[in-house]
Amino acid sequence: MRIPSDHPRAESLETREKLIEQYAKGVVTQAGLIAHGRGEAFDYLLGEKTTSSALKAIEAGAAAMLLAEKPVISVNGNVAALVAEDIVKLSQVTEAKVEVNLFYRSPDRERAIGKLLERAGAREILGIGKNASARIKELSSERRRVDPAGIYVADVVLVPLEDGDRTQALVKMGKKVIAVDLNPLSRTAQKASITIVDNIVRAAPKLTEAAEKLKREDRKKCQRILTDFNNRKNLDESINLISQKLSKLAKKQKGFTLGRKRLEL
Ligand code: ATP
Ligand code: MG
Repeated sequence: MRIPSDHPRAESLETREKLIEQYAKGVVTQAGLIAHGRGEAFDYLLGEKTTSSALKAIEAGAAAMLLAEKPVISVNGNVAALVAEDIVKLSQVTEAKVEVNLFYRSPDRERAIGKLLERAGAREILGIGKNASARIKELSSERRRVDPAGIYVADVVLVPLEDGDRTQALVKMGKKVIAVDLNPLSRTAQKASITIVDNIVRAAPKLTEAAEKLKREDRKKCQRILTDFNNRKNLDESINLISQKLSKLAKKQKGFTLGRKRLEL
């Protein structure tokens, strides 16, 4: 469906359309559509823009990927549907591998996501078919299947829109996990090493931009950014922002109700 560009929620509707289109092609699952809805609700509360705390986490994420020896970007259906090209670009700038990792795995879905990534310019895509032969033993879902040349041996893994169990398992394996999750309260957000509380649609190009900029600088700059970054503090900033926004709205609402009552008197 074509969304009129002057629609006040055009951007959000276009994002939905992309997911619906890729749902029809077997890239996105029904559960993926629901997960997006949960993300949207938090995005609304965050003002649908990249906050200054998110920007700090993006910079730290880019620094961690540049310093990594074996960085990997984990891609699921929603990520492929929304930001395939940005992911390919980020992988080129940071020399990270791209691996397909799915909760609902099927050969058809793997192929559909692989095709989408290839069309976006990816040359090597890990985690498809027999290549997903290693197992994360702490997990029982299909997400435990990983590529022995990718996530299994990675030191830094970018996991946009991840499930909490796997984030925890990857951290337990000693990996630095960078999450992109609009819900600062999710297990993923809470357990990751670096949590970017932002919409992947905005965060993915910003991560590439940050990596391009930092790549031109001394490695020490990246190290400094990482030492100065405190994920707990950064997450608390996002939670506080939502809380302040809600308090302000509640006050406004109270004024409105009182106003009406006065009118009724
Ligand atoms: P967890 O398993 O970490 O506790 P959850 O079970 O609440 O989280 P999942 O369905 O496992 O949620 O993961 C989806 C997550 O992705 C949600 O936290 C949701 O907020 C987030 N999300 C969905 N769409 C986007 C998006 N476009 N950008 C960023 N985050 C998103
Ligand atoms: Mg979950």
